[in-house]
Amino acid sequence: MIYNEEYETLPREALEALQLKRLQQVVNRVYHCVGFYKKSFDKAGVVPDNLKTLDDLKRFPFTTKQDLRDNYPFGLFAAPMSSVVRLHASSGTTGRSTVVGYTKRDIDTWAELVARCLVAANLTKNDVIHNAYGYGLFTGGLGLHYGAEKLGASVIPMSGGNTKRQLMILQDFGPTAICATPSYALNLAEQGQMLGIDMRSLNLRVGIFGAEPWSEQMREEIERAFDIKAMNIYGLSEIMGPGVAMECSDAREGMHIFEDHFLVETINPETGEVLPPGEQGELVFTTLTKEAFPLIRYRTRDISRLYRVPCRCGRTSYRMDRVMGRSDDMLIIRGVNVFPSQIEAVLVAIEGLQPHYQLIVDREGTLDTLEVQVEVTESQFVNADEVKVLQKLEKMILKDMKDYLGITAKIKLVEPKSLQRSEGKASRVIDKRKI
Ligand code: ADP
Ligand code: ZN
Repeated sequence: MIYNEEYETLPREALEALQLKRLQQVVNRVYHCVGFYKKSFDKAGVVPDNLKTLDDLKRFPFTTKQDLRDNYPFGLFAAPMSSVVRLHASSGTTGRSTVVGYTKRDIDTWAELVARCLVAANLTKNDVIHNAYGYGLFTGGLGLHYGAEKLGASVIPMSGGNTKRQLMILQDFGPTAICATPSYALNLAEQGQMLGIDMRSLNLRVGIFGAEPWSEQMREEIERAFDIKAMNIYGLSEIMGPGVAMECSDAREGMHIFEDHFLVETINPETGEVLPPGEQGELVFTTLTKEAFPLIRYRTRDISRLYRVPCRCGRTSYRMDRVMGRSDDMLIIRGVNVFPSQIEAVLVAIEGLQPHYQLIVDREGTLDTLEVQVEVTESQFVNADEVKVLQKLEKMILKDMKDYLGITAKIKLVEPKSLQRSEGKASRVIDKRKI
């Protein structure tokens, strides 16, 4: 099913023509009404008229998170406060949070894009959606909320936390879909099991998960725990919030980017050079229709890959691969680059381990070191008097990390339920080098 058949299936040529028209408009607008862009374009020696084709965008300068911070809070707004109807801020996962604003039309666009996501996940107005994304400054809660209402579904505005109450509502209201961060979904499943709730027999059939990196192995884990189909949604507050890209349930191979509203590039994060499709790099987004807070060539620091092959669902947009992580989360262990989500994939695939882990990065002399703390399952733990059982598990982790990722780490198996659980975005890495 497709929410906006016309725009989601536009032939590429028409889509690109629309993109160019919108791009020219937005670039013109920011050049004339946001001092920051005037300066940054002038410095790069470009003017809006240089933009004759989509490819010309390459010549325009990037906008970075630092630029947003330097213009905190409202310096990059392109509309007067009198037409801004909503403010949000990023979660601040990697530093001072950045502030974003929306006009009435921006909110309508956002609601439509989230409605597209829900329909791509096979939801309809007959669904009851339990929304466990945090409500507040974070875009997750309200973003999903407005989209669900736009679709006409029934939305339960749960927000994050208060897990016992969530479990009660899940049983009593019988929602058919749940939205949450993947780590919080696991936390819910675990606490439900502890309370003797059969999480697989709830009425849920679909889960919409995003806002943090998660692996394919984690998807399987969540699908098993709830007996649902788990779908990946991507977004970031700077560009809009959730609903920038979404998997379709027909293919579930990469997330469709809503290219009538966002223009996407991938770049080499070191050189800034634009990469050909298919190559892994940093995602760079330009908003094409946003009024209050347009962004030109925003460097997300998210590492992914674009696919240009047509999808069997009929949508014509390019798709992006699941985000491996942010460039600033990449660990360099004895010269090998590795993302926490890759370590997660290795751990979750090993029987006897729980999908709960933490990575501790430190430095010995000039070398970075990594300690992987991971919980063992209850049954392994009961067996633990047999030191051999744990030793065997440890060896297996070491071997798989070496074989799949080429890194060596110190492994610390810990008791079930001893690591901190997430109520929103999980923090997987403790970086002692910065302390
Ligand atoms: P913050 O940068 O403070 O966390 P946001 O709350 O806006 O700000 O979160 C957006 C970020 O969350 C993205 O840039 C990306 O790193 C991450 N993210 C969002 N959706 C996904 C997803 N499906 N997979 C992996 N990472 C995601
Ligand atoms: Zn598709």
